[in-house]
Amino acid sequence: MRATLGETADRTPANLRRAAPATAITRPAARSIRDVADSAPQGDQSGPARPGILMGRAFGIPIYVSQTWFIVAIIITVMFEPQVGQHVQRPLSYLVALAYALLLYASVLLHEIGHSVVARAFGLPVRAITLHILGGVSEIEQEPHTPGREFLVAVAGPLLSLALGAGGYAALLLVPMPDVAVLLVQALTIANLLVGVFNLLPGLPLDGGRLVRAAVWKFTGRQRTATVAAGWAGRVVAVAVLVAGAALSATGGADRWLTVIWAALVASFIWVGAGEAIRVARIREHIPLLNARALARRAVQVPHDTPLAEAVRRAQEAGAGAIVVVGRDDDPVGIVSETAVIATPEHRRPWIDAASLTRALDPGMVLPADITGEELVAAINRAPASEYLLVEPTGELYGVLTAEDVTKSFARA
Ligand SMILES: [Zn+2]
Repeated sequence: MRATLGETADRTPANLRRAAPATAITRPAARSIRDVADSAPQGDQSGPARPGILMGRAFGIPIYVSQTWFIVAIIITVMFEPQVGQHVQRPLSYLVALAYALLLYASVLLHEIGHSVVARAFGLPVRAITLHILGGVSEIEQEPHTPGREFLVAVAGPLLSLALGAGGYAALLLVPMPDVAVLLVQALTIANLLVGVFNLLPGLPLDGGRLVRAAVWKFTGRQRTATVAAGWAGRVVAVAVLVAGAALSATGGADRWLTVIWAALVASFIWVGAGEAIRVARIREHIPLLNARALARRAVQVPHDTPLAEAVRRAQEAGAGAIVVVGRDDDPVGIVSETAVIATPEHRRPWIDAASLTRALDPGMVLPADITGEELVAAINRAPASEYLLVEPTGELYGVLTAEDVTKSFARA
């Protein structure tokens, strides 16, 4: 059975790529450390969207195991069993092979706990650790504030893996064990050493890429530059993995094609992760340039009992991109949902009040027209909605900001 290899990736890019307006910028600073087992390199990128089954907590951090993991555990068991079978009889051999699968993932879990505990020590909240088909993900909610901390959070996982590998090696040398135990400890030792070494390859999205980022950040003082540099290093690592796989397969062997395919999958995973890291760095660079006023749509105000058709007509006449419903005292009470208007067939619009397609205004949906940058992103995070009312300091309505327009401005960046 091949050992577990690890790899880390940012969660943020996936969120941004999906570009649902609210989620796109819901957690601009959220990131995860993702580690990958090579046993199933085809990739489950869905991550925390469905965290799986809660197995317990370590240091207060909930630990989830994705349902896909159980399939992989069975595959690992079946593939490892023939080796075990040379030392113990069936069906006991299956039990030992299953123990290997469980210990393999326990190793990945310890690697993740390494990242998470250090992150927490620096006050960075850790939402969860999830073990899934590819390995593990630590959901750390904030970026470390200094390159030194970034370095320590990133290095903790691989160090723990290498320590486990070293411990296994020492046990093999020093502790007398039955053959089957030797086999098990050998396999786990190799797995942990590979996880440690592989994760230290110097490019994003691997842990080693975070170390590169920390170093460049330290020397340039510029976090974004560091991310882009580490992302490009990741692309170099991806190509190197591909070349190494091809070179390895050229030496022959029965599973040479397996080597090539596996290398290609790992390389593409790193390539994609590196590209996403670069993309997110560019997007985050764009945040300070965000300007609510510049992105605002002109809005018409209509009384709450105005038929939708009439409200749309007035908006078109005024060249407005949004409709605000006002109450009896002319105060805005809600914003008509553009999505709901589009979903309403034209022949029905005269018979529906604009107010019925209106999302009532929460306090969080009213923003100052002058809001910009990180402040704007934070405001959208606090109250995710599809539309926001922009008001002047005088209380006068300036216009409507849609989350979609904000997301589009990111896409142009
Ligand atoms: Zn890691």
